[in-house]
Amino acid sequence: MAYEKITELFIGGERVGSSSGEIRNVLHPADGHLVAIFHEGSASDTVAAIDAARSAFDSGHWRSFSGEQRGKILEQVADILERDKARFAEAESADTAKRIIEANYDMDDIISVFRYFATRATLSHEREVTTGRENIRSTMVSEPVGVIAMITPWNYPLLQASWKIAPALAAGCTFVIKPSELTPSTTSMLMDVLSEAGVPAGVANLVLGSGAVAGGPLSTHPGVDMVSFTGSLATGKRLMVNAAETIKRVALELGGKNPNIIFADADLDAAIDNALTAVFLHSGQVCSAGARLLVERKIHNQVVTEIARRADQIRLGGSHDLDAETGALISAAHRDKVERYVADAISEGAVLRAGGKRPEGEKYANGFFYRPTVLDECTSEMSCVQDESFGPVVTVEVFDTEEEAIKLGNDTIFGLAGAVWTNDADKAQRVARQLRHGTIWINDYHPYVAQAEWGGFKQSGIGRELGEAGFAEYLEHKHIWQNQKPARSDWFKATEGHENV
Ligand code: NAD
Repeated sequence: MAYEKITELFIGGERVGSSSGEIRNVLHPADGHLVAIFHEGSASDTVAAIDAARSAFDSGHWRSFSGEQRGKILEQVADILERDKARFAEAESADTAKRIIEANYDMDDIISVFRYFATRATLSHEREVTTGRENIRSTMVSEPVGVIAMITPWNYPLLQASWKIAPALAAGCTFVIKPSELTPSTTSMLMDVLSEAGVPAGVANLVLGSGAVAGGPLSTHPGVDMVSFTGSLATGKRLMVNAAETIKRVALELGGKNPNIIFADADLDAAIDNALTAVFLHSGQVCSAGARLLVERKIHNQVVTEIARRADQIRLGGSHDLDAETGALISAAHRDKVERYVADAISEGAVLRAGGKRPEGEKYANGFFYRPTVLDECTSEMSCVQDESFGPVVTVEVFDTEEEAIKLGNDTIFGLAGAVWTNDADKAQRVARQLRHGTIWINDYHPYVAQAEWGGFKQSGIGRELGEAGFAEYLEHKHIWQNQKPARSDWFKATEGHENV
């Protein structure tokens, strides 16, 4: 297919070409066909975008909109996304190789995120403080943080962007976003939606390109007030170090190694079925994937045998393959990484019960497919249990007691999510409350809502997205103290004839 359109950056309300003059091709991970072509941004383009966001913020125009006005615009964004849902789902599916049905589910979530923050924008965040002093008015007011640098990953491109953009706009911030260089399409398309909905020029800016080059100034430039990042632990650490130089706020959504704990008294049919969804949804490229299965010893054999049998039956395919149940990995480099992870796990003593290879057949020849993989007989000292593969791989460990399940579930540097399967409601609550992870599902896996905070304990991140706390990330809090009857303080008494030299 001949491509006439090369998508440009979006700075100060306009599409602009990159100063480097370079371009980047985006290829479909399931079959390698050309999906789109983008301008490749340079560091100076990013500085221009930061300058545009800075002027838009400092002019005070966007901040002067009332919460109701900003809320209306966000509602309008949701309405346009609803109208253009099919177009967006198609583009998301082509960039990420997720099936079109999954991309459509993502769009529903994205629309609900804009609607949730549209409502939140209208709520007052002022509060009068009781001081116990006469003639004093003490008020807490909330103001937008300022210019936000947003950096997003490739697994849920527009969803991750919406978790940042919707609350930041609701709060009155301006922003520069850099989507993953592998999946920029829908974030770029969103810029036009924001303009159509009435977001003023300069408030929303998009840079495109690699993390190292186009991303560079986002964590170092003094014009940025806050870095909101979703991605890997290694990149998050680097950004935090960079941000320290100018004391930028940081919000980090990083990786996870999420325990999925099955007790012997669980509904095993549901637990096993959901254990497959927990880890193999979107081919395991989910930060909250249940990639670490903990099974009570007496049901271990039954559970692993069934999970391995079912894993072997999972059908892989392209975005529009109606027979497929999941898709390809994002890139050749990522599949190489997953293959190395599995080989290392086996050399460490893990026992391969399913997968561990690429699928065979013409249909898979040009894509980055990898079979759902089950690694049994793992222990928490193994690197396969501690490290995130971010692919379709589950490790299995056994436990004997409730205490041991909790200990193992917490034996990780991460703390993003986890699940507990049991028919004992009290035990479920006990375990859920002792697991040090930001989300715990009981007898379920994966659901979330825009009203409930999402984020990680420990090295899974700093701060929260979604919910009230996800909005508060984009607010500064100011105390205004007003003395309604000014008087002398007389702290320093002017004494005639007493002068210091
Ligand atoms: P990554 O860290 O490689 O890249 C993420 C983004 O950071 C990309 O846009 C990349 O270009 C950019 N980047 C890289 N180096 C940069 C730099 N020096 N300066 C500025 N930007 C830079 O991560 P990834 O491979 O795209 O995503 C996978 C990771 O994301 C996994 O670890 C996964 O667990 C995590 N993730 C977490 C959540 C969550 O909610 N906690 C959600 C999705 C993904």
